[in-house]
Amino acid sequence: MKKLLLLTGLVLLGSQAFAFDVVYPKQNDVIINAKSTFFVGSSNAPLKINGQNVPLHPTGAFAYVVPLNNGSNTFILQSGEQREIFVITKPVIKSSGFTPRVFSQYSSMKTVSVTVDEAPLRSSPVDAGVNRIAHLQRDIKLQADGEKDGFYRIVLGKDKYGWISKTNVKSESSNNFELAQLSGYEYIDGKDYFTFVFHLSKRVPFEMIEGDPFIMKFYNMKDEENNIYTFDFPVKDVLSGRKLLGYSGEYQGNDFILKIRKPVITNSWRPLHNIRIAIDAGHGGDEAGGIGCLGDKEKDINLSIAKNVQSELKKRGAHVIMTRSGDNYVSLKDRVEIANYGDAVVFLSIHANALPDGADPNKIRGTSIYYYYPQAKPLADIIMDTVTSEIGVPNDKVRQGSLAVVRNTNALSILIEVSYLINPEDNANLINPEFQKQYAKAIADSLERYFEK
Ligand SMILES: [Zn+2]
Repeated sequence: MKKLLLLTGLVLLGSQAFAFDVVYPKQNDVIINAKSTFFVGSSNAPLKINGQNVPLHPTGAFAYVVPLNNGSNTFILQSGEQREIFVITKPVIKSSGFTPRVFSQYSSMKTVSVTVDEAPLRSSPVDAGVNRIAHLQRDIKLQADGEKDGFYRIVLGKDKYGWISKTNVKSESSNNFELAQLSGYEYIDGKDYFTFVFHLSKRVPFEMIEGDPFIMKFYNMKDEENNIYTFDFPVKDVLSGRKLLGYSGEYQGNDFILKIRKPVITNSWRPLHNIRIAIDAGHGGDEAGGIGCLGDKEKDINLSIAKNVQSELKKRGAHVIMTRSGDNYVSLKDRVEIANYGDAVVFLSIHANALPDGADPNKIRGTSIYYYYPQAKPLADIIMDTVTSEIGVPNDKVRQGSLAVVRNTNALSILIEVSYLINPEDNANLINPEFQKQYAKAIADSLERYFEK
């Protein structure tokens, strides 16, 4: 009680040190190329920025948008005796002028070979994230018939093309390019997977297309119509009406191994019993992730929510795989490996969101969920539905996005951006243990709803 009185006294005197704390921008003298930026932080006394009152959330959090002019912009933050000056420079960037970006066709085909692991073969000559046909392993040979915007156009079959960045391939000195042949395939009826082993004479570009049927294509194939070999897997018939729960496809030597997960056995009173679910708390260790208005680190919030999800799922009988359980750094590759090695059926990556300069953190709130493979969209939709209806979190959309952990895991994989760290209202939720618990329960409820159908 004494302490509280003392603090009140200090506020009245307006003389305590550090009435306010700015977490963004991280320092004075930064260069920000946007039409506006924002000050994010907290204050326990009225705060003005350039003479304007800054609205404070009951937690003390604030996010205050300021416009930026070309050149240097000075902002004076003042609360009682505390005064800080920030100078932010908006660079003047001259337009580099118009460069024609047209397709140029070669007079003869050029043979190129992949020089990196997992080179994206794209459906358009843009580094757009989701426009990926497949990822090609090192040394696969391809035929280019032209180029555009730094991408080779790759001939996959008759009237069928893909695009690959010129930085991911090298030109071959000799131009003799051979089509491949399929000598047959084997079917292995395993415990958890339908496995198909395609025996090819060499590695070729491929594509896996979700739907019913699930389609496997091999390109640059000899003796096939349009040089494309197509294999159909009738999902509904073979999975007896159950959902696609993940698959993988990769080369081993010149064999291509396609694995499609068999439906998991569930019972209606305990639908998550024995289901392997990987929970991935984003960031960790030296990688803090975003910083909330009150200085909380994203890595800690993610881990706390992830642990709540873990205990909710365990209660319901699920087998939970954590990609990290403490405050340690785990690479994206290791996160993927942990989930794939544990043969996870579901992969949930837990994050908290931030915004770029130019946006208004006061106006954007709620949960966004990212999927990459269409098979995971229904699960993302159910989770969105549950968190919005059960705990009233605003819906900031389910989106398709190319995020490494989501793209490279063989499970039904999604990434959940729970809420915005730099929105004062969202931030208050994110750091509230009760909200974290409710959110975790909503995720577990969603998974139950998904698997009981
Ligand atoms: Zn994050």
